[in-house]
Amino acid sequence: MVTIAIMGAAGRMGRTLIQVISQDPQCRLGGALESSQCALLGQDAGVVAGVGTQGVSLSSDPDDLSACDVFIDFSSVEAFEHHVEIASRFKKAYVVGTTGLREEHFKALDEASKVIPVLWAPNFSVGVNLMVKLVQMAAEVLSSGFDVEIVEAHHRLKKDAPSGTAVKLLEVLKEAYKTEDVIYGRSGITGERPQGQIGVHAVRGGDIVGDHTVSFCGIGERIEITHRASSRETFARGAVRAAKFLAGKPAKRYTIEEVLGL
Ligand code: NAD
Repeated sequence: MVTIAIMGAAGRMGRTLIQVISQDPQCRLGGALESSQCALLGQDAGVVAGVGTQGVSLSSDPDDLSACDVFIDFSSVEAFEHHVEIASRFKKAYVVGTTGLREEHFKALDEASKVIPVLWAPNFSVGVNLMVKLVQMAAEVLSSGFDVEIVEAHHRLKKDAPSGTAVKLLEVLKEAYKTEDVIYGRSGITGERPQGQIGVHAVRGGDIVGDHTVSFCGIGERIEITHRASSRETFARGAVRAAKFLAGKPAKRYTIEEVLGL
């Protein structure tokens, strides 16, 4: 049995994680951290997530997480440094899904990985991680002669753009196309599309959970690789799988590919 604490427990992902944990016989919810600004503090996390009582209250006190084996953090960039410090101090395995992290945050993650097992992934769905592999394969064949563009779409409340997954796809494409020439949006630009450039476009609206398409456009043909998430459950299931994978492991920075066997 793995006891999991959630950081950002009242958020969209936090609530989905509580639901997924409540259905998994190998896990239990042991802590639910929220911002001190959260109006729901003190309420039962299970009730907030719509899964009945779990006997764990939403708390802003990190000490309430100390009895858990693994922390899963889907909160905010602003909270990251505090959360990675708590995980390191309590010597707990740390799974992070927060996107929009910057170089200094990844350095902090590397530091933490000297004392605890850590895993950050911009996307925890099996499908997206397989898509990254498919894009890598396609790019190796198509990088000479095919223009490539990434289009991602997410709900109107998403705070970062482009998405963490689009950034990961971009890294794979930059390596295959051997270029640093990236354009974010094309409005207001005149003139022909430079060859070898990679275009990245973000759409924001409504309740879109997360769509990603990579288009390889050649002369007379086009290949499109698309992933569409229809529910946050896919991310939550992947994060819980990662938590079970990390529990009891030695200190190291692990990857989602190791967890999913890709
Ligand atoms: P959300 O805004 O609905 O939820 C975030 C929650 O974190 C909120 O309840 C907020 O009060 C809480 N929070 C903020 N600061 C906190 C603090 N200091 N301590 C504790 N809690 C704090 O956002 P969301 O849609 O659930 O997404 C959260 C993050 O996860 C975003 O960065 C998003 O891009 C990312 N995300 C990643 C994946 C993935 O697979 N890696 C999937 C979906 C979302």
